[in-house]
Amino acid sequence: MKFEIPAGAQKILRTLADAGYEAYLVGGCVRDLLRGVAPHDWDICTSARPEETEACFAGQRIIETGLKRGTVTVLVEGEPYEITTYRTEGPYSDSRRPDYVEFVSSLEADLARRDFTMNAIAMDLEGNLRDPFGGAADIQAGLIRCVGEPAQRFQEDGLRVMRALRFASVLDYKIEHGTAGAIHENRRILEHVAAERINVELSKLLVGEQAGDILRQYPDVLCEFWPELGPLVTLEQNNPWHCWGGWEHTIHAVEAAPPDLVLRLTMLLHDIGKPACKSTDEKSIDHFYGHPAVSAKLADRMLRELKFDNRTRERVVTLVEYHDVQIPNRDRSIRKWLGRLGPETFFQLLEVKRADGMGQSYELVKDRLTQLEEMRTKAAEIVVQGQCFSLKNLAINGRDVIAAGVAPGPEVGRVLERLLERVTGGEIPNERERLLGLLRPDDSSSVGV
Ligand code: ATP
Ligand code: MG
Repeated sequence: MKFEIPAGAQKILRTLADAGYEAYLVGGCVRDLLRGVAPHDWDICTSARPEETEACFAGQRIIETGLKRGTVTVLVEGEPYEITTYRTEGPYSDSRRPDYVEFVSSLEADLARRDFTMNAIAMDLEGNLRDPFGGAADIQAGLIRCVGEPAQRFQEDGLRVMRALRFASVLDYKIEHGTAGAIHENRRILEHVAAERINVELSKLLVGEQAGDILRQYPDVLCEFWPELGPLVTLEQNNPWHCWGGWEHTIHAVEAAPPDLVLRLTMLLHDIGKPACKSTDEKSIDHFYGHPAVSAKLADRMLRELKFDNRTRERVVTLVEYHDVQIPNRDRSIRKWLGRLGPETFFQLLEVKRADGMGQSYELVKDRLTQLEEMRTKAAEIVVQGQCFSLKNLAINGRDVIAAGVAPGPEVGRVLERLLERVTGGEIPNERERLLGLLRPDDSSSVGV
């Protein structure tokens, strides 16, 4: 095997076996080992009941939070290992959580409750597999397939719909035909899934390798929690800049953005306001005047609904709002926008504009893409050289303005803003003496800016 099983996991498996219980590695770590990538955590399943597991690790640090569901977390050398008793699940009357869990003595019964065949494989320390559902073959083939009857499995727990899409995107796997059909047919079950849980899966999906393909194949699923996407999915845009409809353009823009959640969300939502802004002129050309502001408003609502954190939401909304602004390729315009947005958001906006351009008719936008690249280089120089673009690096501050005779209050800020504008515009240098001089004109007692 390519990857070592950590000493902590080995110790746990041996301790349980020595006490006469069965114990296996299971779930994500086995899947990852078979895929040839390093697992990020090591889950263990065992025939021991939770209290028996606890007895095996008496004297070790134990976390009992998952006890009711059969999970004991043991800390070995600072690493937490989840040890879960073989269990089956009762009916899911709310499509969220099983009504009860039942401990069982058979590994097969435990594997049968798991979502996908690739996640339903157990492995012992010698690398022997217990794989009753053919998960290893599905991993080999890159296939996501439900354990058991797909429709029933999705109806039990709607989150599995999103997990399937997320795994397909992140692992670059195909969803097996019957499983895919059941996802489409049972997508309404998402109504019963908490927004926070959908958020987690969607966020992973969007930064996955195959996010674009999933958006292309499952827009109906996304519309279950974000119905606002519906009109964009069917939007036609007869406009020389656009070689695709609204959805295909969105997908290309998502694919062109780096795998960063803020940027991918921005691209997914940047044109969400277009359908509401569509007009068609006498030459049958479609226009979408004012769509960035409408998109920003809708994006804000959608991100709130799905419980994105404020930081992510605010950043995405800002980028959506400005995605279409024209920034002239000149140092002073770049300084102005660096000041207005802050460097981090400004560089993200350049990425957004590039990704947006990549989703348009290439011949028409290629010059714009070159300009964006030039602007990125210029902006990086401006930042590195410490050029002034915000009040933070203006050579004077509010105290200086007050010392020059301006009464404390809002006028102080206005004076500074006016000076900043002249500095970023290249009209005057950012030099303390020069700026102080402007505050104290020779010919008058009042402040001259
Ligand atoms: P990763 O941690 O890499 O995202 P994972 O497969 O380990 O993937 P977890 O959420 O950590 O996913 O779950 C561990 C295991 O529990 C899964 O491999 C699967 O066997 C089972 N599992 C998790 N969620 C569900 C679910 N909603 N329905 C059925 N089985 C599930
Ligand atoms: Mg896991």
